[in-house]
Amino acid sequence: MPPHRHGLHVYAHGVLKYSPFPFIFLNKTTPKPKMAELKASIAADAKLEMWSYALGFTPMALVKCAIDLQIADVIDSHGGSMTLPALSAALACSPPVLRRIMRYLVHRRIFSHTASSYSQTPLSHLLMRGAADSMAAVVLLESTPTMLAPWQRLSLRARQADGSPFEDEHGRDIWSFANANPEHSKLIDDAMSCIAIASADAVADQYPEAFDGISSLVDVGGGDGTALRILVKAFPWIQGISFDLPHVASAAPPCDGVKHVAGDMFQAVPNADAAFLMSVLHDWNDEECIAILRKCKEAIKEKVMIVEAVIGEEEEEEEEEEDKYSDVRLALDMVMLAHTSGKERTLKEWEFVVKEAGFSRFTVKHIKAIPAVIEAYP
Ligand code: SAH
Repeated sequence: MPPHRHGLHVYAHGVLKYSPFPFIFLNKTTPKPKMAELKASIAADAKLEMWSYALGFTPMALVKCAIDLQIADVIDSHGGSMTLPALSAALACSPPVLRRIMRYLVHRRIFSHTASSYSQTPLSHLLMRGAADSMAAVVLLESTPTMLAPWQRLSLRARQADGSPFEDEHGRDIWSFANANPEHSKLIDDAMSCIAIASADAVADQYPEAFDGISSLVDVGGGDGTALRILVKAFPWIQGISFDLPHVASAAPPCDGVKHVAGDMFQAVPNADAAFLMSVLHDWNDEECIAILRKCKEAIKEKVMIVEAVIGEEEEEEEEEEDKYSDVRLALDMVMLAHTSGKERTLKEWEFVVKEAGFSRFTVKHIKAIPAVIEAYP
C-alpha cells in the first residue's frame, strides 16, 4: 500500500518511517534494535541493486549506440576531445539527445567530460571499429536481435537436459544459420576474430614453449585465421592450416604461412604435428566434443592444444583478479547455454572429455587471460 494513502510519515533515527495507523505517532525516543536497522539497510541496498538487473540491457544498448554512431572514432579523429556542439555536428545528432546519451556514457566512465569537452578513455578506445584491440564486433554480434531472442527461452531450456534456445528460436543451429545468412556469418567471424586476437596474443606471450618442435599446426574451427596469423608470426617455423566450414574458409582473408582448408571436423581433420582448438569445444556437448577430439587425435603426431576457459570449482576461493576472469567465464557459460549445445567446463569436465576421446594424459597451463591452455597427448 503506498504510504501516501494511509498513515503518517515520521522520522525515527533519521530514517523516514511509515506508520500504518493514522493518528498514532511512533515514539521517536524508542531505541530501535540495531539488527532491524541493519536488515532495513540491506533490503534497501538489495532493491537498489535489483534495478541494475531490471534495466540490465541499458549498458549494452548504449555501448551499441556509441558504436553505431561511431562516437569514439569521431572523437579520436578530432584529436581525442570534442565539445557537445562539435560532436553533435560531426555525428549529425540532436544536441539535447546526444547530451543525455553522453551523460550516461560519462557516468559509466566510457567517455570522460572535462572543461566542456568529451574525451576518450581506455574503455571508449575498445569501441573504435578500427582499433587493433577493439571489442566493437563482439558488442555488435551479441546485441543483434538474432542473438538476443534465444535468451527469452532460457527458462524453457532449464527444463530440458539438452537442446539449444538458438535452435528452437531460429530452426537450426548457429553454424547452419550462419551458412544461410552471410551477414550474420560475417558478424560472427569478426567477433571471434576480436576475441582470438587477445587469446592468441596471451598464449604466444605467456606460453611460447608450447610451440617448440611444432612444424605444422592445424587450427580446427580456425574461423577467419586470426589466431594462426598471430601464431605463425610469433613462431615463423610453423606452417599453419586454418580449417573451418566451407562458408567460413571461403570468406577468410589470405595470409602468408596460413593455408585455408574447408571441411567438417566431425568427418576428418587435416594432418599436422599438432592441432589447435580455440573457442570451439565449448560450443559442443560432451558427446560431440569427444567425437571432435577423436578426429583431432587421428590427425596429429604430437598433441592437441585446447585453448578454452577452465571454470573454477564452486568451493574454490578466488583472488580478486581471478574473480574478474571468472565473471566473464561464467557469463560465457550462459552464452553457450543460450546459443549452442555446449558449455564452459571445469577441470574435471575437461578431464572426462579428453580421457573419453582416448588421450593418455593432459596438462593445463593457466595464463592471465580468460582461457587456459590444455594439452592432450595421444
Ligand atoms: N577458433 C576461432 C573461431 C571459433 S568460433 C577463434 O577462436 O576465433 C567456432 C568456429 O567453429 C566457427 O568458425 C565455426 O564455423 C567452426 N565450426 C563449426 N562447426 C564446424 C565443423 N563441423 N567443422 C569445422 N569447423 C566448424
